[in-house]
Amino acid sequence: MNNKKTLLLLIFLFSINFSFLSAKNKFTVVIDAGHGGHDSGALGKSSKEKDINLAVALRLGRKIERNNKDVRVIYTRKRDVFVTLKRRADIANKYNADLFISVHSNSATPRAYGTETYILGLHKTKSNLEVAMRENSVILLEDNHKKRYKNFNPRSVDSYIMFQFMQDKYLENSIFLASAVQKEFQRKRRHNRGVRQAGFVVLYRSACASVLIELGYITNRKEERYLKSRRGQEQLATAIYNAFLKYKKRYQKKTNVDALTTNTKSAKRKKKNSQNVNKHIIYKVQLFSSKRKISTKSKIFKGLKNVRYYREFGYYKYTYGRTSSYTEIRKLHKRIKRKFPKSIIVAFNSGKKQQKKK
Ligand SMILES: [Zn+2]
Repeated sequence: MNNKKTLLLLIFLFSINFSFLSAKNKFTVVIDAGHGGHDSGALGKSSKEKDINLAVALRLGRKIERNNKDVRVIYTRKRDVFVTLKRRADIANKYNADLFISVHSNSATPRAYGTETYILGLHKTKSNLEVAMRENSVILLEDNHKKRYKNFNPRSVDSYIMFQFMQDKYLENSIFLASAVQKEFQRKRRHNRGVRQAGFVVLYRSACASVLIELGYITNRKEERYLKSRRGQEQLATAIYNAFLKYKKRYQKKTNVDALTTNTKSAKRKKKNSQNVNKHIIYKVQLFSSKRKISTKSKIFKGLKNVRYYREFGYYKYTYGRTSSYTEIRKLHKRIKRKFPKSIIVAFNSGKKQQKKK
């Protein structure tokens, strides 16, 4: 290879590297239009859920793309195709998403109407459980679902018990977005049925702040007409978009503060010890939290040995591993994440839990 070619190749490699870096630094939102292809979702008199979800999702995505050059928008589908729940979450994880917005429409008796936004957790009412069961039941349309979801049966109440152990680091952010979405819907004069919690597989598997929006009831004649109309879809997308802007603003403020504290702290730490090891700080991987005490030998820990717990804010928080090296704990966390996608790294200074950083 001659020098000129080498130079060109180098320039080429650098440019890939930089574009990769800048893409990575961008705030990334994954927009997930529920259902698609042979999975129509809920059925109205004259419309299908999958079409309404897609129309609103695309409008939302376009608004974000058009007005926010600093945001990368990824869609789980842009057409009428079937996508498994696992694949939807995998897309969010692959692109290292900061936010996952799943768009759905609800169904019930003809009298029910209004909007709901869900975050992940254990259902508090039967009707919340029913919504999660219906949305999760698309799993049954997937081939090989038993293996893919480790025998999670979307129709069995027992399967949902696992969600009582969810108390993840994204909860606060997810609640913020969910509340903002509901507030914006109300401003568009939609009936606000509130922020709710239930066990949605797609939210469980995506390792970022995530919400599942029920735009309205396709089974209510008046609401179906609204959901189908261009005006309705535009209003709903605008409402979600406005909530997204609020979230982004708050997120950016928070990250700036975090970056500042991280910089000064890590500079000090580096001075003290160049190998990223601080003897006073112990890192652990926190698997999940629970209101109830669980035996550390329980199957819930998926075979992990030497699981420990500590108590905080009335929760039992279960941890795995213990090291003073941040590099090591990150390696361990990477491995554990496959089994516990919502696990996080926690730090203790002389036995005291340290404030979490992003
Ligand atoms: Zn749905």
